[in-house]
Order: sequence, then C-alpha cells, then structure tokens
Amino acid sequence: MAASSLVWNFIKDVSRPYRWHLVGFFVIACYIGADPSIGAYINKMILDGILQVRAGEPPHYTILAVVLYIITNIMVVVFWRTWDWVMMYFKPGLQALVTEKLAIIAMGHSHRFYQEQLSGAIVKHITTVAEQVPELLTIVTGDIVWRLCTVIAGIFTLWTVFPTVAWIVMVWAIVFISSAVLVTRRLHVYSERSANLLAHIEGSMVDTASHMLAVRLFSARGYERGRLVELLSSWMAAIQQRDWCLLKLFIFQGGSWIICESISVWLVVQAAFQDVLTIGDVVLFFSVSLFLILTIWNITRDFSKVIKLSGEISQALEILLAAPEVTDVAHAMPLTVHAGRIVFDHVSFGYEHDQLLLFNNLSLTIEPGQKVGLVGYSGSGKSTLVNLILRLYDLQSGNILIDDQNIAHVMQDSLRSAIAYIPQDPSLFHRTLIENIKYGRSDATPAEVMEAARRAHTADFIAAFPHGYQTMVGDRGVKMSGGQRQRIAIARAFLKHARILIMDEATSALDSMTERYIQESFQELMQSCTTIVVAHRLATLLTMDRIIVFDKGVIVEDGPHEVLLKNNGLYARLWRAQSSGFLPVDDAV
Ligand code: ADP
Ligand code: MG
Repeated sequence: MAASSLVWNFIKDVSRPYRWHLVGFFVIACYIGADPSIGAYINKMILDGILQVRAGEPPHYTILAVVLYIITNIMVVVFWRTWDWVMMYFKPGLQALVTEKLAIIAMGHSHRFYQEQLSGAIVKHITTVAEQVPELLTIVTGDIVWRLCTVIAGIFTLWTVFPTVAWIVMVWAIVFISSAVLVTRRLHVYSERSANLLAHIEGSMVDTASHMLAVRLFSARGYERGRLVELLSSWMAAIQQRDWCLLKLFIFQGGSWIICESISVWLVVQAAFQDVLTIGDVVLFFSVSLFLILTIWNITRDFSKVIKLSGEISQALEILLAAPEVTDVAHAMPLTVHAGRIVFDHVSFGYEHDQLLLFNNLSLTIEPGQKVGLVGYSGSGKSTLVNLILRLYDLQSGNILIDDQNIAHVMQDSLRSAIAYIPQDPSLFHRTLIENIKYGRSDATPAEVMEAARRAHTADFIAAFPHGYQTMVGDRGVKMSGGQRQRIAIARAFLKHARILIMDEATSALDSMTERYIQESFQELMQSCTTIVVAHRLATLLTMDRIIVFDKGVIVEDGPHEVLLKNNGLYARLWRAQSSGFLPVDDAV
C-alpha cells in the first residue's frame, strides 16, 4: 500500500490549488445524485394526482407536482452546465501543473537515471500522470459521490413507500459494492504490471524510431518486430488477467442482482394485490430499481477505473519520484572559482557499487591554469575522470576539490556553470542554430553569439544554410555533420567564459584543416583556463603542460610530452604506434 500512499500524497500536494474546484464537483455531485430519486418521486406524485383527479378530487396536488417537475429539470441542467464550466478550468489547469512539476522533478534526476531509463518512457510516465490525475480526482470527488448519492437517495425513496424492499436492496448494494472493493487489491497489481509494460513498449518503440538508421542498415525490421510482439504479448496477458478478474466479479454481481430483484418484485406485486401499495408506488419501485442497478454497476466500473488509473499513476510516480542519486547537500553554497585548481584527494569510484572499483585511491592535482592532456586506451577511465569533476556521479570515497571547495558540498548548478565541457559526441536540441549556441550562456547578446560562432569556425557553414542561424538542426542535431555539431559545442564553450575547460575528444570528428584552425582558437580559449583535454590524436597534445596516461583507471605516467617520450613507457609506445597521429585501430576509441 506504500505505492498508493505515494499516489495520494502526490495528488494531495498537486491538487491543493484546485481544492475549491473539487468542492464544486462534490456539491454538484450531491444534487445530481439525488435528482433521479426526486424525479421518480415527482412522477409518482403526478401519477397518484391524476388518479385522484379522475376520482373527482381537485387538481392542486397534480399542479404542484408538475411545477416541481419543471423546477427540478431546470436545476439539473444548471448544475450540469456548472460542472462543465468548473471542468473547463480544472482539467487543463491541473494537467499543466502536473506536467510542469514532474518535468522539473525529472530534470533533477541524476545522469545515471537518464542512462538507465528510456527517454520515451520517462516522457510517457509524465504524460500518463498529467492526464490521469485530473480524471482520477473527478471520478473520486464527482462521479463516485454522485452515484453513491443516487444509491442512498434511491434506497431512502424506496424506504418511504415500502421499507422491506428498501432493506433487501440495501443489503444487496452493500454486498455488491464490497465485493468490488475486495477485488480492488488484486486489480491494482495487474494494472501496475500492464502500465509498466506499456511504458516499456512505448519507450522501446521510441528507441527503435530514433535508431531507424541502424534498423535499416542491419535489415533488422524482422528482429524489431519480434521484440515488439514479445513485449505486446506480455502486455496483453497482463490486461487479460486483469479483465478476467473483473469479469468474475461482474458474474457474481449479476447473479446477486437477479436474486435480489426477483424477491423484491414478488414482494411488491403481493403488496399491490393487498392494496398496501398504490399504482404510483409500484411505478416508483420499478423506476428506482432500474436506475439503482445501473448506478451500482457504474460504481463498480468507477472503482475499477480508479484502480486502473491509480495503478498507472503509481507505477509512473514510483519511477519519477525516486530519490535523485546526486543531490545538493543542505545549505550548499555556490562554488566560487578564482584560480581553477582541481584536486583529486584519495578518490575511489566504480560505476556499480558492488563491482570492482575503476579508480582506487586516486590522487591528482591540476594546478590553476595548467593544460593537461589525458591519454589511454579506450575504457581506461578518461571520460569517467571528467564525469567525476562534473559530479555526474558521487564518489565511493575521497574528495574532489576545486579551489579548496569540495564539489560534493557546493551547488551542482554553480559547479557545472563554472566548467565549459565539450563532449565527444555533442547532441543538439531540435531548435534553431542560434538557440543551440546560446545554450552556452542564455543572456549573451547577438553580437557575442556571432563572435563565439566565428571563433569556433561555425560561421562559414552556418552562412551556407538558407536560413542561416535560424536553421533547425533536426532531432538531436542529425541534420548537422559530426564535425559541425562539435563546432557548435565549441561555440557554446567560447560563449560560456568558464575558468575550467574540459574537452573530451572534442575535435575527433573534425578534418585536419578545420582542426588546425580551431586549435588556434583553442589556444586563445585555454589561455585563461585550467584545461583538461582527452585526446586520442596525440599530436593535438603537444602544447600541453602535462600529459597524464591512464591504464585501467591507474595513472601510469604523468609529465610533459618530451619527458614521457624519454621514459619510453606506454605513452612512447602509443606515440610511436601513431603513424598519422591516431592510436592503432584496435586501441582507438
Ligand atoms: P574512456 O573514456 O577512457 O574510454 P570511460 O571512462 O568511458 O573510458 O570508461 C571506463 C570504464 O567504465 C569502462 O570499462 C566502461 O565500460 C565503464 N563505464 C563507462 N561508463 C559507464 C556507465 N555509465 N556505467 C557503467 N560502466 C561504465
Ligand atoms: Mg571516453
């Protein structure tokens, strides 16, 4: 039941601004619920009145009943339109609020969360909750209340004319509704399971769609279809399990209704024979029992809908509201970088907590303004070192300090805004080029953006696009070549003016000429920065103050290019192996 309290706590919190709307639904539901009984009673009054007039009595009673009939009809129409009016503000408003809240929560999740979840599934979870919370609340505060009122008022109306039948119907209604509640728990499990599978299916379909080129190149449509069919079959099985459980409930409920109704009709007819009931009473009994059965059926359906919705919502919320792995400590201060010294102090880290450590007791100091190259075979831990400086993961032990401030104790946003990071394969937003470059610093002026673009040698290719800076870059930047994307990322770094610059094979996709041009700009960019450059094209590291060579997470060499060459160790071996500035093919990233 922890999952349902998660759902209800979230719903309570998010619906607070809409509590008056919910009160509105409740009040309207109470009247609408009573209306069928009031209507049935007025019908009986009209019928009895007509019979009295025929027997020679004055028509006052009938006229009163007809006036009441008209008034109640007007009232029910007014209440329904008020319901629609409240709903007009409630539903989209709450949906937007939930989407916004969950989007913010999702953005607060750690890097690992996004590596482990399919992004399609994350979005699916958010839209599911946003669509279903307003629906769930309307059912609970409106539909169920209205139907319960209908049942209570119906039984009360029956009681006023024939208490015995009212008792029978009441006992039956209690059995009917409690059997629905009892089945609820099992349904909850099935609903969660099917919702989970559905999110997984949609996430997986988005994954396939975004890698359609690979599907095409490997002629893998059959394989993808097989995967999809397998997932769909387990989803269908979960749905069928849920519906089978519901069907058994409905069969039981239907049977109990037949017994209850047969006994009641028999008693009513007997009472009418004995003149205990009027014709109006008999008609009242039939009309009330008709809407009672329909309403009670609908309550069961409401319950199963509530279970289905809360199962789907709780399944999504369990993932979205999981505690983020990397968080700001209480009272975290912003990082202030005045020099740019980076210190690894006995750092131990492994991606999986229970597995072997990649870094074991690693200590390293990078002095302010130093230019450091990181070299090593693929998988030796270069990118991980960079990830740790950015605090994308927390350490198992030890500390990383920037200008004597522990990065685990400062605000994450301040840490990341102090570092300009150019990744190996930068992906761009499906927005215009200028928006993508401005991502480096949102308050940059157009002139600053142009200047950054010029320095990153993007200006030429951007000018060649018909829409220039307004060109949309395609999903994740697919309309740009790898080298063009890297240059956009470099332009962002120029714009950012950070004291620490990290490039993870940032020029790997550039041709030699463009790289040479950009190297000049880099020299300029690096001047005022502490710089870490991961590179497998070792020739690009000649101007570095220091080169650190990694092997399986261990620093095996550390020094300037010449010294390392003289040492004749791993670096010298790699250097010699590079006939044209690249690592041997087998070793390269
Ligand atoms: P490099 O950048 O030197 O090629 P990485 O730092 O990316 O190497 O990887 C170091 C090791 O950590 C590799 O064995 C890699 O498989 C592992 N690794 C990298 N990223 C992850 C991750 N997100 N989860 C688990 N293991 C990872
Ligand atoms: Mg790497």
